[in-house]
Amino acid sequence: MHELSVASAIVEACAGRAGGARVLRVTVEVGELAAVSPDALRFCFDTCAQGTAVAGAELDIVEIPGRATCDACGGSVALSSPYGVCACGGYLRIVRGRELRVREMEVV
Ligand SMILES: [Zn+2]
Repeated sequence: MHELSVASAIVEACAGRAGGARVLRVTVEVGELAAVSPDALRFCFDTCAQGTAVAGAELDIVEIPGRATCDACGGSVALSSPYGVCACGGYLRIVRGRELRVREMEVV
């Protein structure tokens, strides 16, 4: 499961950065095109956090909508799947929506 490895990476990064403090809240940015389900991520996060400094922390997920620009006509379109073609038939280049990163965390 993809979310499990993502959650475990987030927990590890936060526990490392906390430097022994307890983590209260973690805010992550998840792009619409990152192929990560927020519900599954939340579940895996709680599981991975057990027994670490991140245990019991709240996970805030900020979803970033997908957006792409067209190489042919220069148009900007909303994108909800990683693949798409512009109305003009041009190739779409994803400019936003692949984010998967920790934005901030709150420690005690
Ligand atoms: Zn186009």
